[in-house]
Amino acid sequence: MSATTNDKLLVEAIANGTVIDHIAPGQAMNILRLFNFIGKHNQITVGFNLKSGEMGSKDIIKIADVTFSPSETEQLAILAPDATVNSIKDYKVVDKYKLRLPNEIKGAFECPNSNCITHVEKGAPARFSIFKEEGKVMMRCHYCERVFARKVLLRHNNLAL
Ligand SMILES: [Zn+2]
Repeated sequence: MSATTNDKLLVEAIANGTVIDHIAPGQAMNILRLFNFIGKHNQITVGFNLKSGEMGSKDIIKIADVTFSPSETEQLAILAPDATVNSIKDYKVVDKYKLRLPNEIKGAFECPNSNCITHVEKGAPARFSIFKEEGKVMMRCHYCERVFARKVLLRHNNLAL
């Protein structure tokens, strides 16, 4: 079976929903955790360490009856900046796009600084600006202005990279 046929089958397996493809190996679990997908009742298929021509290996998530809002798409891009999102309707791909790291993220992640005002004032959702420094992704808290490597911030939020 050719790679093209395989890809097609993976995408066609759900009638309606979203397929997140080309996730870096190991990240699918974090994505499920971040969006609490396990706690919901949607049909989910996850592939770990699948062979990928481009990446060597990859993870893939197929989730039925879910579409990602723009802010959820940004959250997703923090964990899987190079993944491809396919929106499926009636077994067909109706939209397909590659994720890109956003410049800013709101609400999704907690600030690792325990003295940050976001921990004191519940009305202030954490907000980070995102930039690259020497090839590493860094995140600066809008409130306490401290800068964290993405890895550190995710680890604080019980997610790994
Ligand atoms: Zn902060």
